Amino acid sequence: MTDRERKKLREAVYAQPLFSSHEHYNDLSGEPSCDVNTLISNSYLDEEWTFLKPGTDRNARAVFLANLRSKSYLRWFRESLQTLYGMDEALSVENWKEYDSRIGELRRGKGFLRKLYTEHCLYECVVQDTYWSPGEMPPQFDFFRATFRINSFLYSYSRNGEDHNGNNARRLYGFDTDDIDEYVRNMESVIAEKMDSGCVALKSALAYDRPIAFEEVDKSAAARVLRNKTEPDEEEVKLFGDYVFHQICRIAQKRSIPFQIHTGLGLLWGSNPMNFEPIIRAYPGVSFVLFHGGYPWCHVIGGLLHNYPNVYADLVWLPLISPTAAVNALHEWLEVSNSIFRIEWGSDCKTPEESYGASLAFRNVLFTVLSQKVEAGYFDLDTALHIGRLIGLENARSVYLGTEEEA
Ligand SMILES: [Zn+2]
Repeated sequence: MTDRERKKLREAVYAQPLFSSHEHYNDLSGEPSCDVNTLISNSYLDEEWTFLKPGTDRNARAVFLANLRSKSYLRWFRESLQTLYGMDEALSVENWKEYDSRIGELRRGKGFLRKLYTEHCLYECVVQDTYWSPGEMPPQFDFFRATFRINSFLYSYSRNGEDHNGNNARRLYGFDTDDIDEYVRNMESVIAEKMDSGCVALKSALAYDRPIAFEEVDKSAAARVLRNKTEPDEEEVKLFGDYVFHQICRIAQKRSIPFQIHTGLGLLWGSNPMNFEPIIRAYPGVSFVLFHGGYPWCHVIGGLLHNYPNVYADLVWLPLISPTAAVNALHEWLEVSNSIFRIEWGSDCKTPEESYGASLAFRNVLFTVLSQKVEAGYFDLDTALHIGRLIGLENARSVYLGTEEEA
């Protein structure tokens, strides 16, 4: 590839609009003030993920930054903040307070957050997963759509059951029944209502609740769990969940709803995407969008993409977790996928600041892979430019909005 061609590809990848298939935008306007620590606690640098706290004094911050020096989450977070807040240097112990005041000041500006999404991330569309209120979308952003998280249906055998987000479908959607058919009918009408009100997909984050293997269960066994007057034991909870999950897939198939599936990480012992293969096989009419590259099982996603025409591979979150894993995964998926239209990306962040970092990580991965493929003579520059647009924008647009690729 000549320098000019390389430049052309880089510019295209960095200037193109993106479709983020997955966000958890969290409106922080209720917070008394927003500073570096607020952004950290709403990011993958939070204690929940890193087991570290940035603290509030110089020493604690130094320890935090030193430990995370090579962590991908921090690398993109710092680049994002430096660019968005116009700082000369990346976040350090020395300039931390200056970052605090810039963030507080600029975030109070009207339209600032929208500008971050539209003019920096260059998002054309974002699919929001409001796990604290499934199916809801932030009203202030007209370019957002929503996905409907279905976890709670597997745990609503009584009013006391809850998924890992504390949600219970009976409490959320106001139904109560101990009849399995009625339960499934209620579930279907809630799903139909959510789709009618603008949701564009279903989302399973069940990899945080249980293994993503869902056995075929006899209806009579699931019916028994519902009729029980006592709370179900662990085995009955699993059995009920298995039955309900199959019913959700049936509904998705009947109504042609794309189904986003968290695979990898979560509860690592049960989240290998291979666990999900029987479901992919059982519901060939459902477009299953497998999230996160199945990290660390990215090859498994490649295998599923190779074998099943109803599998979509989503890089969502992966470039932020590990750019190296994302580069390797994308190289491989491009080679094995039977369709170039079944690979997409999402950022998976709560703030536009972290989302911007995620978008940079993704563009970096996309450029690396496409340029290496052209260098190696695998495909030509025009193909690379076309594939870049598909993965960054058009594939997701067609999955979730049903719009065809523009000429
Ligand atoms: Zn997510």
